[in-house]
Amino acid sequence: MPLDTYRAKRDARRTPEPVPDTGSTVVDHTGDAQAGRGDTFVVQEHHATALHWDVRLERDGVLVSWAVPKGLPLDPATNHLAKQTEDHPLAYATFAGEIPRGEYGGGRVTVWDSGTYELEKWQPDEVKVVLHGSRVEGRYVFFRTRSGRSGSDSWMVHRMDGPPPGWAPLPQDLRPMLATAGTLPPDDDAWAYEVKWDGVRALVAVDGGRLRITSRNGNDVTSSYPELRGLGLQLGSRQVLLDGEIVALTAEGRSDFGVLQARMHVARPGAALLRSTPVQLVVFDVLHLEGESLLDRTYDERRAALDGLELEGEHWQVPPAFLGGGPAVLEATRAQGLEGIVAKRRDSRYLPGQRTDCWRKVKHVRRTSVVIAGWKPGEGGRAGRIGSLLLGVQGPGGLEYAGHVGTGFSAATLADLGARLEPLRRPDSPFATPVPRLHAKSAVWVEPALVAEVDYTEWTRDGRLRHPSYKGLRDDIDPEDVVRE
Ligand code: MN
Repeated sequence: MPLDTYRAKRDARRTPEPVPDTGSTVVDHTGDAQAGRGDTFVVQEHHATALHWDVRLERDGVLVSWAVPKGLPLDPATNHLAKQTEDHPLAYATFAGEIPRGEYGGGRVTVWDSGTYELEKWQPDEVKVVLHGSRVEGRYVFFRTRSGRSGSDSWMVHRMDGPPPGWAPLPQDLRPMLATAGTLPPDDDAWAYEVKWDGVRALVAVDGGRLRITSRNGNDVTSSYPELRGLGLQLGSRQVLLDGEIVALTAEGRSDFGVLQARMHVARPGAALLRSTPVQLVVFDVLHLEGESLLDRTYDERRAALDGLELEGEHWQVPPAFLGGGPAVLEATRAQGLEGIVAKRRDSRYLPGQRTDCWRKVKHVRRTSVVIAGWKPGEGGRAGRIGSLLLGVQGPGGLEYAGHVGTGFSAATLADLGARLEPLRRPDSPFATPVPRLHAKSAVWVEPALVAEVDYTEWTRDGRLRHPSYKGLRDDIDPEDVVRE
């Protein structure tokens, strides 16, 4: 019987889904004038164990169905996987509701789109249709994949038309816009002010309910932050590219780069670490939305689009931006012991990968990235361990000496640094400029491969950091990109 598999998977007493009696399969139970005409389709968004979209085409009195993990593609260049599932009764075309947990397909089902289709071809291994829905419009082909044996349930779905007019795929390889260190701007009203977060920058692309997180230097760090997956589920089929900062909070609720250290170097955190050091994604910009690039929109326009997404979850948030009133915002962050603020020109465009004066960071604490170029052995209580790190920044002729840091380390940090630096040893100084003899004398040189974060009071006239204090390592910035700010 056509719906035997469908019925076998469900208990009508336990699920709100329509479960027609045996023998009544060809009858339309919905009372819906549409279903039963032979040409209806429906796409249901299904938040089961894994989010997917069920695409169903009416055929011979049933709904022939595929589960498509990323939904119907809008880009003809990207085919999406589709898994054929059991035929569903026609009445399913209007079903929306909550399938109880523990039941087959447990989770929320909503109708994402429905309409009619024109049939171009229906073969056992290939189905070509033109969909006419309110959200999706266009020619699609479902084809069984060659890797799957004949009769396998592995299919692909391909859009045969070009992308919808004006629709652009998510940009790949975009780098975040960077801020210049500076002071409060004089034309206060022309600027928006945001708290400066003390974490790592992240571009978050969401497509088909799946997210991909890219670090500032373009590395895929998605697997490091599994608690953010729910953001993809919340956005569902909305295609979005977000800009933000991943932070870990202190007991007092302040973002802290030092706390994040426990997470940022771990590619696949275990349950214990996820519990002890959870992260938050702080979202402050949206760069692409539903097929449209927002890079050329103003800050104010992008911010309105971001607010419209209503992103709010246990592990993600959109903190406020203040229009004007920079001095008060700066003072408030000082009083709360925060790092500082970022002032953003309200009429400015988003310039990927560029450090511009349209974004200015105004900091209470001076903080910079430096390259580790060597170490000096410790003395006294630190004998046998690292005493201080020799630091560098890139200059016109290569790596320049920027001083040394001997404070801010815990015993664990020193041991960790020792282990990381040992294999990087090299016989000669990596600096392009001379290092003062006092510091060069007992130095152990290393390849300039690690980037550290330090607080300091000022740059001296000869280009050294005064009173630097070690904060942690960062792998989201390449050593070649570390310059004097
Ligand atoms: Mn499903």
